[in-house]
Amino acid sequence: MKQHKDFKNLIIVDHPLISDRLTRLRDVETNTASFRSILSHISLLLSYAVTSELKASMRHIQTPLCATQAPCLGEPMPSIIPILRAGLGFSDSLMQLMPEASVGHIGVVRNEETLRPEEYLVRLPQDIGQKYIITDPMLATGYSSAHAIDVLNNNGIEGNRILMMILVAAPEGVAVMAEKHPDVRIFTAALDERLNEKGYIVPGLGDAGDRLFGTT
Ligand code: URA
Repeated sequence: MKQHKDFKNLIIVDHPLISDRLTRLRDVETNTASFRSILSHISLLLSYAVTSELKASMRHIQTPLCATQAPCLGEPMPSIIPILRAGLGFSDSLMQLMPEASVGHIGVVRNEETLRPEEYLVRLPQDIGQKYIITDPMLATGYSSAHAIDVLNNNGIEGNRILMMILVAAPEGVAVMAEKHPDVRIFTAALDERLNEKGYIVPGLGDAGDRLFGTT
């Protein structure tokens, strides 16, 4: 896990298991069923990195041998915010690891001409001072991610309480995030080369939502 040398808000989570799973996801021969299951596996591995930002607190317990103070997840539990659609298939591991976590949804669809996000759904859990983990496999233009953070900011949630779990990022999108939301920390498995003229990440893995749900 290392901070990127140019983008201070970007953490690259490099691990042989993650790289192997990502290669399978990039492969056009990987079908929907496999894509879904590999995306879930890789999100579990990335969850380990993202949740390392959470604070632990001490709890008094009794082991079979003695009383002791032992670490536990500090309260309050973070909220998980998938960006629809593809964020859905990328959030289940966080929900399994933290079943008490509340889950909100932000639905945005990309306007294929302007490449700008159009919002169609926002449902946020109650803000009780928790951290928020936004999940989206692809950070492409950065407009959807920046929009999701604007939504949280407009609801009183500051950037230093927001973490992003991404699978593949494009430099253009990371630059947008660094300019608009420099206090949000972004965890990604890979920083790819560039965006193409249609706003897709190259080499990327195609449309994550389509590959996850078997749509075109
Ligand atoms: N969204 C995707 O699903 N893939 C891309 O390459 C860019 C945005």
